[in-house]
Amino acid sequence: MKALVYDGPNSVTVKEVPDARIERSNDALVRVTSTNICGSDLHMYEGRTDMEEGRVFGHENLGEVIEVGEAVEHVKVGDWVCLPFNVSCGYCKNCERGLTGACLSMNPGTAGAAYGFAGMGPFEGGQAEYLRVPHADFNCLKLPGDAEEKQSDYVMLSDIFPTGYHATEMACVKPGESVVIYGAGPVGLMAALSAFIRGASKVFVVDRFTDRLRLAEQIGAIGIDFSKGDAVEQILEHTDGQGADKGCECVGYQAHDPQGEEQPNITMNNLVASVRATGIIGAVGVFVPEDPKAKDKLEKKGQIAFDWGLFWSKGLRLGTGQANVKAYNRQLRELIHVGKAKPSFIVSHELPLDEAPLAYKNFGAREKGWTKVILKPADATPSSKVRKGTVKAVARRPA
Ligand code: NAD
Ligand code: ZN
Repeated sequence: MKALVYDGPNSVTVKEVPDARIERSNDALVRVTSTNICGSDLHMYEGRTDMEEGRVFGHENLGEVIEVGEAVEHVKVGDWVCLPFNVSCGYCKNCERGLTGACLSMNPGTAGAAYGFAGMGPFEGGQAEYLRVPHADFNCLKLPGDAEEKQSDYVMLSDIFPTGYHATEMACVKPGESVVIYGAGPVGLMAALSAFIRGASKVFVVDRFTDRLRLAEQIGAIGIDFSKGDAVEQILEHTDGQGADKGCECVGYQAHDPQGEEQPNITMNNLVASVRATGIIGAVGVFVPEDPKAKDKLEKKGQIAFDWGLFWSKGLRLGTGQANVKAYNRQLRELIHVGKAKPSFIVSHELPLDEAPLAYKNFGAREKGWTKVILKPADATPSSKVRKGTVKAVARRPA
């Protein structure tokens, strides 16, 4: 099968690899029709993790089940399914409590496993024609009859929509509250959408890329351009000097200053300063235990200089970590199905798998107009229902 393979820092190619196949009786095999590039893929692409060369990326996957192992009961051939990026067992101490992002069985010795991800187990990614899904009955989210037609919405259930929602859940966003979100990448935009779903009255989204800020404004948020003035001052001005009720970190350890230089502590300290006393912060942007290639001395050891004194004296609270996608994907699926949520508003490009290297280059450089890319591997499968050539390299909005 064709798959997107990591060759080393800033280099990926589409090549033939051994077919994904049923390996255990509770596996399903999925023909991947939509698979997104994620900000988390970029940490690996840029060589900032210990991702092994030769691995296949892709943890935001949707497609059609083409084969199931003999122990699979609920999922059937022909079902359209969306796969949570977390690969989880369903029966460990954490999965039992709904904390599938910290599954203890799928990557023994650590908490949490994922497809095509550094340090998260041996599972290959779905930026490929086929994907093996372990514990299929537990991990597949079945999609309704409009699955194929609305796949650019439903594919967001694999990661970023539940992840954005998780940020607002950890921040306990309540109706009528104001929320400040750092990062207008796909995750930050999904956090903004989620904050509105939870009834927020005002949502501020901070970034310096105007195309991303415009998308935030498109759903009713207030865009804050931190290259035009201090983000904290702008939030305080909008909130009578008090700060927003709640905050979300949707950037992670590669956060940068207004000039584009990496400054890993900037968003966390800005949140401490721009969330009101007694507020709560949900941090889903990824921070890593060590980052040897960082310029910052502390960051090399996975540390940041954090304004703990101000955090403590304001009585703030903080939630962190990988999203437990299964805790939210079913409910968010219903909002998409009935037309109350349309997360595909962030999608700028739908491209055949062959164009993935170009997409990595542009999305990685945060080129203007490259806000979210969906790859369409089934386009290259001659036997597939999606006829070759039906999915063109479409820029869905003008760049
Ligand atoms: P992205 O890189 O496309 O977007 C990040 C955005 O943050 C960019 O638009 C950038 O301009 C902006 N930014 C950088 N510095 C900033 C600053 N100082 N203030 C405000 N904005 C700033 O990535 P994404 O796909 O949106 O993902 C965001 C983060 O979420 C990444 O770290 C990713 O790994 C992580 N993530 C976490 C989970 C989880 O389960 N916790 C799941 C998916 C992604
Ligand atoms: Zn992702």
